[in-house]
Amino acid sequence: MTTQPPADTAPTQGAALEARDLRQTYGTLTALSGVSLRVMPGEVVAVTGPSGSGKSTLLHLLGGLDVPQSGEVWWAGERVDTLDTQVRATRRAGRIGLVFQHHYLLEDLNVLDNVLIPSRLAGTRDEARARDLLARVGLGGREDSLPGVLSGGERQRVAVARALAARPAVVLADEPTGSLDRNNAHAVAELLVGLARQERAGVLLVTHDDRLAAFADRTLHLLDGQFTDSVPAFL
Ligand code: ADP
Ligand code: MG
Repeated sequence: MTTQPPADTAPTQGAALEARDLRQTYGTLTALSGVSLRVMPGEVVAVTGPSGSGKSTLLHLLGGLDVPQSGEVWWAGERVDTLDTQVRATRRAGRIGLVFQHHYLLEDLNVLDNVLIPSRLAGTRDEARARDLLARVGLGGREDSLPGVLSGGERQRVAVARALAARPAVVLADEPTGSLDRNNAHAVAELLVGLARQERAGVLLVTHDDRLAAFADRTLHLLDGQFTDSVPAFL
């Protein structure tokens, strides 16, 4: 008689981000019904799907902003959905970069101080790196500007610099160019993906725009809370 080995709870070796069988409901509505994915360092993965398919719910769970009703989230080899909220927030600052459609810059902090937020929270305040990232996104010399004087594209480039400032394992971006015109959208996506690849950070790029998905190494399609990729083409 053979015995079952214990369930393998170890994460994939070297993964920047891993999610297993995430499920989330809001009342009677099932927003996610069993989603698993993995992002390796330096890998760019796009998640596309129509409005309401669960993209933002997924990103919130992956970023630890919400916890799943069931399933697991791992950041750089550590399971985080079971951590205390405060501990998870500190871990997030050092391991996860976040870029949203609307930039969430703090309007009364200058550009440099906005970029420094994650590394301050992570306890590694690194001003030289923040300045370097600002130069690499084309905003060298704008460190002292307040966000209010910047254009939409410039604000989103500040958000990209901020997302990478604390050397995260992975950047999670939810419709990062959704509020920009076509040219700015292309430029910001190219910057985000280019910098992340240089830094060996993974990227999970959530978008309903197929042009953005073209920047990714692979694309996962979400429909009604599930990835469709395992569904045969004839269905
Ligand atoms: P997407 O980002 O792909 O548009 P969402 O993840 O925002 O999709 O939403 C997935 C589904 O879950 C939608 O039907 C949406 O109405 C619902 N939903 C999302 N967030 C909430 C919430 N906080 N409360 C109730 N329903 C929600
Ligand atoms: Mg959304």
